[in-house]
Amino acid sequence: MTRDDCGRLDAADPLAPFRERFALPEGVIYLDGNSLGPLPHATAERLSHAVTHEWGEQLIRSWNTAGWMEMPTRIGDKIARLLGAAPGTVVAGDSTSVNVYRVLAAALALRPERRVIVSERSNFPTDLYIAEGLCAQLGAGHALRLIEPEALPAALDESVAVLMLTHVNYRTGLMHDMTALTQAAHARGGVAIWDLAHSAGAVPVDLAGAGADFAVGCGYKFLNGGPGAPGFLYVAPALLDQTRLPLTGWLGHAAPFAFEPAYRPAEGIRRAIVGTPAVLGLAALEVGVDIALSAPMEQVRDKSMRLARLFLERVQRACPGMFRELCPSQDERRGSQVCLSHPEGYAIMQALIARNVIGDFRAPDILRFGITPLYLRHIDVWDAVEALREVMESGEWRAPEFQRRLAVT
Ligand SMILES: *Cc1c(COP(=O)(O)O)cnc(C)c1O
Repeated sequence: MTRDDCGRLDAADPLAPFRERFALPEGVIYLDGNSLGPLPHATAERLSHAVTHEWGEQLIRSWNTAGWMEMPTRIGDKIARLLGAAPGTVVAGDSTSVNVYRVLAAALALRPERRVIVSERSNFPTDLYIAEGLCAQLGAGHALRLIEPEALPAALDESVAVLMLTHVNYRTGLMHDMTALTQAAHARGGVAIWDLAHSAGAVPVDLAGAGADFAVGCGYKFLNGGPGAPGFLYVAPALLDQTRLPLTGWLGHAAPFAFEPAYRPAEGIRRAIVGTPAVLGLAALEVGVDIALSAPMEQVRDKSMRLARLFLERVQRACPGMFRELCPSQDERRGSQVCLSHPEGYAIMQALIARNVIGDFRAPDILRFGITPLYLRHIDVWDAVEALREVMESGEWRAPEFQRRLAVT
């Protein structure tokens, strides 16, 4: 493989036209779309219209005339298509952290006689913190049991109320077998919750096929919905009627504008809405979701695996023995990111960023690179690893300015 070979692969890439849809700064190689997706050009236009016309001119009329009220379910239905879920099972809104709280509380209420939540020790901390806080709030002896990935199936015994996992691990990129683990949880009478923060728009997901009970996920990562974009929440159709999601707000009521004093849940997934939708955030999210829907997932996954393999092979050649590969070597077990560990990972990443190759760092020692096939080219991967080689050979990461820890790593 040479740099010219990369150029040839890019010329033949069916996803190549998607790159033009994004505002990527000149000279930047962006390997952090798993943390904050880039700006789609259409988002700037959509937001400008939503602000100046829908809000500015139409004012409150837009709730009825611009489809504002339907945004959580309309965009939810679009996200459902990315997740192998039926229409009417997903709403867009609120943050992933809040949605984790809501589905976890609902899931625990489905198994009132059980007290154990099983999750992964290296799950994203907000999921664990939310679970810890909910256990304390319930005051009924619930406990969070943190397990290493390979020991998960054996940990699913009859005491387990809920298995709560992130499908693709944020640090290692390890992708769980959603179907097998959901079945294992169900076989022992448990409920399965999946966090799809690093899956939605990134890897094939089949919530219905896997039999997942609940799911949540992020809008600002692979869905390119913008900083702080609303997240989403899924409830399996069979559970909808028996589920009481907490935060029973007025827009989840059967008749919000009847202003009744007592709560009655709305039909179907609408009951999962809490309050007034964040219209501007949802407008931006919808653009990102529409782009994701227009890219065939088989092509996205195929290119993601090729780019990741190219990245890892190039690192082995360009920086032999310098990094430990943390992500699974098997393509099928890896989500859409690659992770290398190095004791000086933070400074190395800062030096890379100074060269306009943007990835991120996860404590204690992980260099993380998001693989986003809609706008990343083979040649970008080649050049990124060349930059990494130069950073390592020159030792420029040792400079004091690269050692200083910033608030967001
Ligand atoms: C990114 C991420 C989150 C983020 O939650 P917010 O409420 O949006 O801050 C939650 N869970 C996982 C697994 C994530 O990767």
